[in-house]
Amino acid sequence: MTQQNVVVSDAKPRMKMGFAITVPSNSSIKQKPPPSSSSPISISTTKNLLKNLEINGGARINSWVDSMRASSPTHHRHHISSSWTMKHPSALEMFEEIIDASKGKQIVVFLDYDGTLSPIVDDPDRAFMSDAMRKTVRKLARCFPTAIVTGRCRDKVYNFVRLAELYYAGSHGMDIQGPTKISKYNKDNKAVLFQPACEYLPMMDEVYQVLVEKTSSILGARVEHNKFCVSVHFRCVDEKKWSEIAHQVRSVLKEYPKLRLTPGRKVLEIRPPIKWDKGEALEFLLESLGYANCSNVFPVYIGDDRSDEDAFKVMDFLQRLVEWKRVVSVRARSRV
Ligand SMILES: [Mg+2]
Repeated sequence: MTQQNVVVSDAKPRMKMGFAITVPSNSSIKQKPPPSSSSPISISTTKNLLKNLEINGGARINSWVDSMRASSPTHHRHHISSSWTMKHPSALEMFEEIIDASKGKQIVVFLDYDGTLSPIVDDPDRAFMSDAMRKTVRKLARCFPTAIVTGRCRDKVYNFVRLAELYYAGSHGMDIQGPTKISKYNKDNKAVLFQPACEYLPMMDEVYQVLVEKTSSILGARVEHNKFCVSVHFRCVDEKKWSEIAHQVRSVLKEYPKLRLTPGRKVLEIRPPIKWDKGEALEFLLESLGYANCSNVFPVYIGDDRSDEDAFKVMDFLQRLVEWKRVVSVRARSRV
């Protein structure tokens, strides 16, 4: 992860104080050293980003493709590294502010996988994390309760990460398992397993098969079965064919009108119609850790994708405190 940036949630607080840290979509997550030049710090909110996250089933194909483009930048865009980082302060540069804000509270870390711990690659089966990243996450888990929250199948991500001391929430939080290894934060080795969308498993199996058939003629299209959700990847599909992908996915959803569709980075994700997302998963995990209705917990969420914004919603952000800190430090600098 190169340019971790802070997003201040302005969503209605459902629970705890915390930070959401996003990785710019063009950062390529290659674990380069942080940029030496200082980037301007300003704080923005997720209000605009939260718009149009879901594609309406009845919408025109053009608007589907527009949403696919909006979620899937196709080119290295310089304006992302300038205007985007102008709007989103660097988490590295704000490290002290984050630490100050967490004083007296238990930090709990939530990590997205693809594009956050691993590079984004053409073949989703080869999104391996580096040994250095694994070592870092292992150390992290010794310091703080740590969970992986991903849209992928939990078993698949576990096989990538291979750390039994972590919590795992797969299928966008619809498949949660606690650590299988006793750790500081799991002394009684309490098994946590929660699968709120079990009844939809047969339907998701069907939808997976139909989508495989419907997209088989589109070069580069790939359908991934993530147990409680199905992902249609178009990372390797020519942009001219994106409308065909949208058309095929829409035709399948017409047969399964209950299901929901959300766009991600070069992926369309089909999910069960339950009110459960990464945000709900965070809430569940915090409760499992014994932090239900606690004011002394400080969740930190690090992710790179729009679906991660579901998780941002549950975090009652420290906007006022951080802004106050920033103003105080700017004043102090101006006095020098
Ligand atoms: Mg991601």
